[in-house]
Amino acid sequence: MKKLFIVANWKSHKSIEEGHSFLVSFFHKGMSEWLHGNNHHSQKIVIFCPPFTILSTLKTALLELDHKNLQVFLGAQDISPFAPGSHTGEESAEQLAGLVEYVIIGHSERRNDFHETDHMLAEKVLLAKNAGIQPIFCVQGAGNEVPPGVEIVAFEPVKNIGTGVTDSLEEIETVAAFYKQKMDIRYVLYGGSVTFETVGGITSLPSIDGVLVGGASLDPQAFSQIVIHSESSI
Ligand code: PGA
Repeated sequence: MKKLFIVANWKSHKSIEEGHSFLVSFFHKGMSEWLHGNNHHSQKIVIFCPPFTILSTLKTALLELDHKNLQVFLGAQDISPFAPGSHTGEESAEQLAGLVEYVIIGHSERRNDFHETDHMLAEKVLLAKNAGIQPIFCVQGAGNEVPPGVEIVAFEPVKNIGTGVTDSLEEIETVAAFYKQKMDIRYVLYGGSVTFETVGGITSLPSIDGVLVGGASLDPQAFSQIVIHSESSI
């Protein structure tokens, strides 16, 4: 069965209370019927990447909620490029290791707004991997460097993020195939204005293994529809 990663990137949205009530309605209203059915053709892996402030609340909530038939994990949206020490405001890989299984590294908003360099991103990948956290490494096209050890790449064209328009299926497949065949990346995801209407076409592409969802992951009904409508072609 093909693995399909469906990643929610909440960016700087949601209070602790909002994060908790999202999860409750996601499982109870949005997903409950689907979760208890059996006709699933792919192994769906849902990864919530909330702000750092909500991680431990969601970790506790996930232990209490019934998510039978769905693998659910937590991810961080960033990680420190430094080992633990005197780095004010940074969350080290060691600190995150008890909370998350995944981390988004190299999102274009961090590259552009915080001037993150390829060197810094490679340090983050190394520290994450050493702490047992799986990086979801964002690239903006076929020109980006991918540090050694990365298994999951998310192709996120800047022109499509938050615009309501996804890239063409041809372009998504071309870039995904490049990373898989030429760069030996195991899983390639697409991100940029994914909705429940577009997710099925994208996840059916032969080289695509999932989606990274921003805006449409903030609403429990909209995001549960994305999980339900995602399907692989195999
Ligand atoms: P979007 O964001 O789905 O709102 O376009 C995607 C992302 O930035 O990861």
